[in-house]
Amino acid sequence: MDANRQTLAEPTPAGADFRDLTLDEVEQVVANAGDRAYRGRQILHWIHARGAESFDVMRDLPASLRAYLKQNFTIGHPMSAIVSRSSDGTRRLLLRLDDGEEIESVIIPTEKRVTLCMSSQVGCAMACEFCATARMGLHRNMTSSEMLSQISAARRELTADEEITNYVFMGMGEPLANYPRLVRTLAIMTSEWGMGISPRRITVSTVGLVPMMERLLSETPVNLAVSLHATTNELRDRLAPINKRYPLEVLLDACRRLPIKRRSRITFEYVMLAGVNDSPADARRLVKLIAPLRGKVNLIFFNPLPDSPLRSSSRAAVEAFQAILKNGSLTATIRESRGLDIAAACGQLYAEQHSAA
Ligand code: SAH
Repeated sequence: MDANRQTLAEPTPAGADFRDLTLDEVEQVVANAGDRAYRGRQILHWIHARGAESFDVMRDLPASLRAYLKQNFTIGHPMSAIVSRSSDGTRRLLLRLDDGEEIESVIIPTEKRVTLCMSSQVGCAMACEFCATARMGLHRNMTSSEMLSQISAARRELTADEEITNYVFMGMGEPLANYPRLVRTLAIMTSEWGMGISPRRITVSTVGLVPMMERLLSETPVNLAVSLHATTNELRDRLAPINKRYPLEVLLDACRRLPIKRRSRITFEYVMLAGVNDSPADARRLVKLIAPLRGKVNLIFFNPLPDSPLRSSSRAAVEAFQAILKNGSLTATIRESRGLDIAAACGQLYAEQHSAA
């Protein structure tokens, strides 16, 4: 991936976290230390495949190299998670970062899959009206090492017969607003020198940062989800204010031109809000907008936020809306709310401890 090459120009700074580095960068460090390039793979195998937390355990490296690495670099330590368990098997992980900031990840088991919902920023600047994370504003971007820590923390919480099958960047933050670090994270997740995860199992969800969407799909083979939520600019301006910069026609035109792989489609997420965006006329407009694209629609029950007048559409309204989409030959699925009893559902992350605070 491009991230590897772009970053090569800059020397890796002293103190850098090896969990943030690509193979090219580690090989460069090793070369600077006067050792052979193949050590790079050895080191990253220790870190990503064997979970090494220090250079000391890398017994197959020369002692002098180990000492050099230890003196000059770090390996991000695994973060401990506070775990809440839902009666439906969903687990919410609250992770404390080194500077005291907190982010959340959610493990969502269904019959056939175990999905990990990952965060990409501490907070978010996108200001969507219906989202809890929006209320905290953007605190900062997460590093790649921090994003990846969610995977190691989640793996520690799995039962013996569970394995994460899908990774979705649908937790806190707008992943495409943290683009260089996101692409670096994806490179480490999908490379054979990293975690070896198939990119088909990874989905990046965006509110619709058009230039970055185009870059993402030209630079990585992951799946894309676009949070749409409205079929008119007037309403989308209100629900997702980024629409003022990239209005519906610009967003959908970009989606039409995106280099989507042969068998895959863009997922359009649509949060169902009673009396706001759930009328039959909305459904018919949605058919018109999505029909010309390689897209499918995922209808999401709105999870209420404290002090918000917004309400979720009823199940009957969601099903009627879905029926119109299906009549218009769209693939439309309904996302059931999971982990509601532990406030781990879509858009609820971070809400609880801060409304309590
Ligand atoms: N910023 C990215 C990813 C994080 S949001 C994006 O906008 O896609 C992930 C999904 O959760 C989005 O589709 C978002 O619309 C949805 N979501 C946010 N708040 C929600 C809420 N209160 N109820 C249901 N879904 C919500």
